[in-house]
Amino acid sequence: MKTAIYPGSFDPVTYGHLDIIERSAKLAEVLYVGILRNNSKKPLFSVEERIEMLEHETAHLPNVKVITFDGLLVDFARSVNAQVLVRGLRAVTDFEYELQMSQTNRKIAPEVDTIFLTTNLKYAYLSSSIVKEVAFYQGDISAFVPPYVAEKIHQKMG
Ligand code: ADP
Repeated sequence: MKTAIYPGSFDPVTYGHLDIIERSAKLAEVLYVGILRNNSKKPLFSVEERIEMLEHETAHLPNVKVITFDGLLVDFARSVNAQVLVRGLRAVTDFEYELQMSQTNRKIAPEVDTIFLTTNLKYAYLSSSIVKEVAFYQGDISAFVPPYVAEKIHQKMG
């Protein structure tokens, strides 16, 4: 794998995302972590804040670059000459949507392939939305996100 993209919302980045990033950074020469700009979900963090948190948490990985993109993922893949899209699979509930997306992308851009990394079992239940929900009710989120990200979430929620 030469150049790969791991796309997502990362609102905010969790230990589950970081596990996928660390593992795929070992498989690719260059790994772009791509934050989707035109997302229909209303985010908690701005794109700039999400970039900053991801850069902070991936600073020890020299071949990982955090960037943002608009529009179709495969167009973004072509623009950075990436051959592979990386997605994480937590449970069967992720599978149906991911299968549909990967087949659609393959149809539009046959030269770009999608690979799936299964979640580390430690993080199988973990999603950005669960973290936000727990934080909203002042629950302990230290098992879900790194301390730096936890601090940003607490600041954001006052
Ligand atoms: P999206 O809005 O594209 O689903 P997310 O930021 O929620 O963006 O997720 C990005 C990718 O990371 C997706 O492939 C998702 O399945 C994966 N992912 C999210 N949480 C985990 C986790 N705990 N373990 C493994 N993969 C995960």
